Amino acid sequence: MPARSIEQVRNLCKRRGFVFPGSAAYGGLGSFWDYGPLGVEMLGNVKRAWWRDVVYKRDDVEGLDAAILMSRKVWQHSGHEATFSDPLVDNKKTGKRYRLDHLLEAQPQRVLGELLAHINFASMPLTKLVNIAPQSVGDVDYTMNPLGAIGHLAAMLIESRMHHVSTDRLVRWLAPILVVYPERELAINKAGVIDPSTQEVGEWTNPRNFNLMFQTHIGPVVRAAGSEEELAARAYLRPETAQGIFMNFAHVQRSLARKVPFGIAQVGKAFRNEITPGNFIFRTREFEQMEIEFFIKPPQFVREGEKNDAQWHDEWIKQRYEWWMGLGIDEARLRKREQSADELAHYSKRTVDLEYLFPEFGWGEVEGIANRTDYDLSAHSRDIPAEDLARLKLEPNADSVEKFDYFDPDAKARYIPWVIEPSAGATRAMLAFLCEAYHEELTKEPPTAEVDAIKAEIPAVIKNAQKKQKDAEKEADSAQRKHDPAAIEAFCAALEEAAARLPQSLLEIDALLSEHSGAQNLEPVKKLQPKVNKLAEDCARVVLKLHPALAPIKLAVFPLKKNKPELVDIARRIAQTYQPHFRTVYDDSAGIGRLYRRQDEVGTPWCVTVDFQTLEDNTVTVRERDSMQQQRISLEALREHFFTRLHV
Ligand code: ATP
Repeated sequence: MPARSIEQVRNLCKRRGFVFPGSAAYGGLGSFWDYGPLGVEMLGNVKRAWWRDVVYKRDDVEGLDAAILMSRKVWQHSGHEATFSDPLVDNKKTGKRYRLDHLLEAQPQRVLGELLAHINFASMPLTKLVNIAPQSVGDVDYTMNPLGAIGHLAAMLIESRMHHVSTDRLVRWLAPILVVYPERELAINKAGVIDPSTQEVGEWTNPRNFNLMFQTHIGPVVRAAGSEEELAARAYLRPETAQGIFMNFAHVQRSLARKVPFGIAQVGKAFRNEITPGNFIFRTREFEQMEIEFFIKPPQFVREGEKNDAQWHDEWIKQRYEWWMGLGIDEARLRKREQSADELAHYSKRTVDLEYLFPEFGWGEVEGIANRTDYDLSAHSRDIPAEDLARLKLEPNADSVEKFDYFDPDAKARYIPWVIEPSAGATRAMLAFLCEAYHEELTKEPPTAEVDAIKAEIPAVIKNAQKKQKDAEKEADSAQRKHDPAAIEAFCAALEEAAARLPQSLLEIDALLSEHSGAQNLEPVKKLQPKVNKLAEDCARVVLKLHPALAPIKLAVFPLKKNKPELVDIARRIAQTYQPHFRTVYDDSAGIGRLYRRQDEVGTPWCVTVDFQTLEDNTVTVRERDSMQQQRISLEALREHFFTRLHV
């Protein structure tokens, strides 16, 4: 079974040097993370596996690494400066800040109904209302009466009778209305919107749009924000890598004499001042993307036997899906999700998201594959005909000196190519691969008597913890409390649940007893924890079942005895042989069993042990991580054994 919680993965990442909280000595900096020795290896492997798949293995994709800072005009004409924003709202009582759509998604339908009832739709122009109101509610047709539709919908929601309407659909419809509605602060407060962190009605500020791009300036600026000088020097940290590719379409096409269809791939940092970052490295303000812009013929130039935009799109969806599966994601936890019409970005004809089923928070997008038509290249081009501007809802671009069109020698025509964009997050992919690979399992059946002894002691731990919980609750001044009652309650519930699953849950119980802040100082815990820990060490392991291509360390080499120079010598030589090719480590700092467990925990696919038989026949023991099976392989055959298994 893969990871049950993000916490398990986060703990492992910190303990074993994958990912550390950024600026930790100064208390950390909201959701910035540093990739440690094993993290930088694994993230590099994710990016390399992607590059190998989309650049090396194909004949029609070139690579690129564009600058992070680009002219502000890029972001003006791409639409980001005006529209790359999220609506945010604060609870004045708790100081908690939410993305409006996330806050609304957490509300019961009743509250959404109240919200609808408190928006004065009658003040909106009828033409606008016709576009936003549902055409029917229940069995009643409201095509001619949009106000009636909204009133009916509100009443049904207040009575919680709209079971067939999903909350996120409602929110996608309601949030944009609320952001522009002049009396929104009043409406959201009258509706009794609940703060999910306290489950109490909040006191809300005016929801407002917040641009997600980080600003900086090029050169010194002495004038105030918004002044001519400031605006001229302003730049943004790119919120996506895609625009750098569009800027270089003509450079790449001309310098490599590429014919459409062809693509450009880029991996690099992107920055978004997210309102609610979180879930470890799932949503961060600095992250890495892996994006392809694949340029194709516009539909009117596609000839018989050639793929059109819809077919290219389908093909990329299939190929990208297979990449994730090929690297070990189980199909039960990977799905394609078609974006609905009201979700689609303004530039997209169709977008399919690939989503991974993360522990705790569920399905989350790891990659989006969009048909962006000719929107972007047209947006950055001068001299676009009026009918195309109207079709794409674009303003003429007088700033650009380029026209990103292409002369197609087969069609003998000039056109602006269309684009299919597979856009994945590298850091988010690393989290998905870690969650999928994380396993806790027994390596052998623990002795029944020892398991029973642990089982028998757990009720005493729970009883003692509950007493502490009661004492803590009695403390009138919560700031003076030594223990947090809620944390102790959660600890008891988790322990009781895990105890029922012994011995499978040995490692979980070990972690609960040693890491849970509400438990560490309890007497029965101090007594029980060393026993659990010892049994877990003997009979259980954490193992990252990563695809070898993703594993941060590929090979660990141990001598059976570190005080035998002849064994140490060979082991060191084997390590040196593979070090130029991939991350290989030599280790003799513990017994072989413990060394295996350490490598299992970080996903090392192969451990090689040099023993006395090696001296006789030049063979070593190769121990395979997942099956724990050991086989003897001659030194000459090692190379092939590793290399044939490394790539997808
Ligand atoms: P979300 O809906 O999760 O905010 P998005 O639809 O805005 O994502 P895109 O603009 O399509 O994301 O970006 C492409 C990919 O970049 C996403 O599929 C995701 O893997 C990654 N990504 C986007 N935002 C972040 C972030 N804040 N942190 C980490 N990865 C991100």
